[in-house]
Amino acid sequence: MSKVLVIGCGGVANVAIRKCCQNSEVFTDLCIASRTKAKCDALAADLAGKTSTRITTAQVDADDVKQLKALIDAYQPDLVMNIALPYQDLTIMDACLACGVNYLDTANYEPEKLDDPAWRARYEKRCREEGFSAYFDYSYQWEYMEKFKAAGLTALLGTGFDPGVTQAYCAWAQKHLFDTIDTIDILDCNGGDHGYPFATNFNPEVNLREVSAPGSYWENGHWVEVPAMSIKREYDFDGVGQKDMYLLHHEEIESLAKNIPGVKRIRFFMTFGQSYLTHMQCLENVGMLSTEPVLYEGREIVPIQFLKALLPDPASLGPRTVGKTNIGCIFTGTKDGRPKTAYIYNICDHQACYKEVGSQAISYTTGVPAMVGAMMLLTGKWNKPGVYTVEQFDPDPYMDALNRWGLPWQVDDHPVLVD
Ligand code: NDP
Repeated sequence: MSKVLVIGCGGVANVAIRKCCQNSEVFTDLCIASRTKAKCDALAADLAGKTSTRITTAQVDADDVKQLKALIDAYQPDLVMNIALPYQDLTIMDACLACGVNYLDTANYEPEKLDDPAWRARYEKRCREEGFSAYFDYSYQWEYMEKFKAAGLTALLGTGFDPGVTQAYCAWAQKHLFDTIDTIDILDCNGGDHGYPFATNFNPEVNLREVSAPGSYWENGHWVEVPAMSIKREYDFDGVGQKDMYLLHHEEIESLAKNIPGVKRIRFFMTFGQSYLTHMQCLENVGMLSTEPVLYEGREIVPIQFLKALLPDPASLGPRTVGKTNIGCIFTGTKDGRPKTAYIYNICDHQACYKEVGSQAISYTTGVPAMVGAMMLLTGKWNKPGVYTVEQFDPDPYMDALNRWGLPWQVDDHPVLVD
């Protein structure tokens, strides 16, 4: 029996909560809390009578540690699942520490406001010293390591698909397939079509910030940064077909570089169609991706937040999206002194996800691993006080659970490599 507090009730949380309710032996009690309580109530109403998980709802502003502490103290959960936004990671971790509760999330910390001088000074120092300029990095959350250890609590960071499942693939490849891993290419392909000229598959602000930033990869012990979308490859994806993909910076590269011993290169590629890129370029050129507030008719507005209000809600794309995703990792390395390659990947069908949980595959492929990560903590399989990413735990129970709960994976021993 376990009680879980879920914070956030957007596209990803909707799937994670529905999957928790399918698994009510583990998730006996859930409290769904978010900024807009009406969304939590609507989901709870929809689930009523369909699950034996007992569901309650609450309103919370997760930027406010005091409110979070009051809610956690009142509900007394075994685990807090942070499926709000990366902006709330640190406040929720603080509240979990104060109340003695385990924590998980699906994306690493990123500040909402980029003009705070203290944050900026630290950011600029990191850009100079580390060599990548993304606004997010793990350092803020890794700083909680000793506090979580001392409190005997576990924080599991980034248990979505990428980050998340991709790191479980790496740990599983390391454990079962390779003696040494030399290179990792993470390939994230979305072959889905929602029929809109332009929409993002998850939170537009977070998504557009990510894809409009410079790309970077890890090679021979350091970061190599390149202009946004300047490295392009084509790849023929199983279940999807030929797609253009572009090298992006991605958060799991940072932790994998530390945790996969001897790895020489780690890259991340995501597929984009030409129309998406053209839209994004235009929006960027006219300033619509900016996070700096502008004064409009006497009121401050943040362009990217205004854009979010205009774009389709990612949670509404489910019924319209057809096609498949294919996300996985290609490895090169050695086994028993011989060169070896492997490709571990999952194919997910947008419409099948919609039929099962009412969401498209991007929310599905993130929400299922959030539930699976929670299950690892709640069933004691992944208990290790401190702050860890997915590849730092035994991958076997997680990989088994992915097969069982909707994200089956396969291994190709002779994949086409990316040059
Ligand atoms: P959505 O924008 O759909 O949902 C975010 C939810 O968080 C909303 O319910 C929102 O409330 C709530 N929220 C935002 N701010 C606060 C706050 N201050 N207090 C309380 N609740 C708040 O996002 P997604 O579901 O698409 O994404 C959720 C997370 O998953 C993000 O961190 C994203 O980066 C991550 N993600 C990870 C992936 C992976 O593979 N690892 C892939 C995709 C996403 P409201 O309804 O009021 O706006």
